[in-house]
Amino acid sequence: MPELQYDISVDSMLCTGCGLCTDFCPVEVFTDQGQDDRHPQIRQAEACWGCMTCVGQCPVHAIEVAARPQSVSQSLAPEQTHALPPAPESRRQYVEYAQTLKDILGLRWSAVAISLIKADDPLPDVPIPHGRMRYCQSLMAARRGQSILLPVDKHACPDGTSILGLSEMPKKLASGELYLLFHKLDSIEAAQHMALERPMLPARSIRATLVTPLERIAAEPDVVAVFANPEQVMWLLMSSSYYSGARHDLHASGYNAQCVETTLIPYQSGKLNVSFGCYGCRAASDVSDDLMFVGIPAALLPEVIKGLKELGKKAIPQSRNKIYLPVS
Ligand code: SF4
Ligand code: SF4
Repeated sequence: MPELQYDISVDSMLCTGCGLCTDFCPVEVFTDQGQDDRHPQIRQAEACWGCMTCVGQCPVHAIEVAARPQSVSQSLAPEQTHALPPAPESRRQYVEYAQTLKDILGLRWSAVAISLIKADDPLPDVPIPHGRMRYCQSLMAARRGQSILLPVDKHACPDGTSILGLSEMPKKLASGELYLLFHKLDSIEAAQHMALERPMLPARSIRATLVTPLERIAAEPDVVAVFANPEQVMWLLMSSSYYSGARHDLHASGYNAQCVETTLIPYQSGKLNVSFGCYGCRAASDVSDDLMFVGIPAALLPEVIKGLKELGKKAIPQSRNKIYLPVS
């Protein structure tokens, strides 16, 4: 259960009583409007995740959801000890991987090291934000250089948080009801199919998510995310096949891109995966339309980097020089 952290207000002068906030809130913070009062009532503010779905759906901008300024994370009591940082040799290795990715692919953004901190493990010594963030927002911020530790009470997206094993799945999401409201699927059967088919970690098996730029790991990563254009993604796919010749069986759907496709599928399968992003991460971040996302299991990264170095000697520069372009 999230700690009480948000003040929610509805401007009754603006509110038309349409009920969209009640319908769309994934954790039922609002009551249905009564006959005498068309405006939604706030029945359990303490359940609010700060996901801003109600704010985004309200057609007349009548809702304000504000983090309480005095909120201070209770996630790590002062007497608790932090996890030890990774060994210097490992940190040096990831600095080199990060530089190789940037140099050969010409990446604009830092690759991101993702660690899923297990329920019984100590937390690394990384800043915890005062307000909540969506997991996808933390990834996008890490590509710009931020290191972010998000325990469950700092996650803003109920969907991603439960998929990644930090919490229980709210009923409206498990049933598929919310996907219908968003007009993202045709029927409740299709919504349930999508929800059942995606992987999910057991509830409360994960204590926190950690994202850092790859050149500044604060824990051993589980998965490395790369933010890249289609040409750069192509070279990553080829790099990972360089020694085996294997083709890729990719899992993409447009739903739950960062939590499922970039993180959980590589984490569970041990295979590289490519995502085109999803409605949620594209609506909740500044990510540009031309970016795609690659999740690489950390254990595979050395082989991918080795293959990339080989391709970088000749194949990549030749292709970028358009050597097969007909001369007019
Ligand atoms: S979505 Fe906005 S206008 Fe509709 S009931 Fe909620 S606060 Fe009122
Ligand atoms: S911010 Fe999200 S969880 Fe909070 S009331 Fe709005 S829709 Fe519900």
